[in-house]
Amino acid sequence: MKFGGTSMAGSERIRRVANIVRRQQAAGHEVAVVVSAMAGETDRLVNFCREANPLYDPAEYDVVVASGEQVTSGLLAMTLQALGCKARSWLGWQLPVHTDDSHAKARIEGIDSGALLASMAAGEIAVIPGFQGLSPHGRVTTLGRGGSDTSAVAVAAAIGADRCDIYTDVDGVYTTDPRIVAKARKLKHVTYEEMLELASVGSKVLQTRSVSLAMKEGVRVQVLSSFIDDDAPAADTIPGTMIVSDEELARIQEGLDMERQLITGIAADKNEAKIILTRVPDRPGAVATIFGPLAAANINVDMIIQNVGRDKGETDVTFTVPGADLPRVQALLEAQKEAIGYNRIITDGKVAKVSVVGVGMRSHAGVASTMFRCLADRGINIQAISTSEIKISVLIDEDETELAVRVLHSAYGMDAADEAA
Ligand code: ASP
Ligand code: MG
Repeated sequence: MKFGGTSMAGSERIRRVANIVRRQQAAGHEVAVVVSAMAGETDRLVNFCREANPLYDPAEYDVVVASGEQVTSGLLAMTLQALGCKARSWLGWQLPVHTDDSHAKARIEGIDSGALLASMAAGEIAVIPGFQGLSPHGRVTTLGRGGSDTSAVAVAAAIGADRCDIYTDVDGVYTTDPRIVAKARKLKHVTYEEMLELASVGSKVLQTRSVSLAMKEGVRVQVLSSFIDDDAPAADTIPGTMIVSDEELARIQEGLDMERQLITGIAADKNEAKIILTRVPDRPGAVATIFGPLAAANINVDMIIQNVGRDKGETDVTFTVPGADLPRVQALLEAQKEAIGYNRIITDGKVAKVSVVGVGMRSHAGVASTMFRCLADRGINIQAISTSEIKISVLIDEDETELAVRVLHSAYGMDAADEAA
């Protein structure tokens, strides 16, 4: 069981979480619980780091930001004890959760599950702070924002859990953000691949890495709400959205005699920044000089366009990076100005990436043209495009995000039927 930041925000909510956990144990399950920091806490801690030193040491950043989860894990263990349950916390360094040493975005390399399994078998509820681990040099690491989901899936895989229930403030995965589109529908099932695309394009339900890990390890993940009444259906009845393999979904839909939807979901991501380098020499190796240093600095470049060459053997290169990395990227590129040989850097943080996702795309033509036509009809300009087998993404002006999502949701026939008055 994993509980997110809003579920852990304050004593009362932690008590609600403890009750949900206790009910699962009472139903006969052995339970490990992974928790996030209280909502807003990690942001608050990140701000302290920025104030202390804008070019902070990522190893020290990890020391600071890992503390939020330490607090909630201890509090949940205490609260469970107050309800008469046996419970204890297991910090990242105690299990340990082994990670590599890329501070602030570490990868889990393995979890020692022996002590954990023994304590669970003895009837103790294990409470594990998400997000944190231990580097090969014995230092605290964190997994990148939203990393508690990945902690939960990794723990589930390590202990061979039947299911990884991710409790959050929404009751499942929707076709799109219901705050943007009132007619968004809850999905009963979604495949790992679709979820991966939806997560990576900004549908904030799960951290991307947690989904790829679940896919790789075959962990069955359910997204469900922690804001439920005492008599709500138990997690075992699958009230949320199950994330399953392609094969499992095909089997389920065959059983229900249902046809595959063309599009499963639409996601929007405002945390992108666009960079244009003008008049880059149009010759072999030029692009490598741009992206080599960014890769070395661990910066993920997403969309890339090399514009049609200008006359004098020059071309403009446009690409996107996470908005938070923009200052660093700019500094790196300025330092490489001579080596790359560009003329000017133009940056724009006010862009958004909107993506339509669905495994049904594999077998249907016309999905992209519907998208482009629909946006054109609303006068929304497309600044960049990228595609995969099951996804089409466009980069647009941030101010037009909501409009784009809304019109696309109707265009693909995804709006829920109007409720009878
Ligand atoms: N507290 C961390 C964050 O906000 C990790 C998590 O909650 O998943 O990113
Ligand atoms: Mg989260």
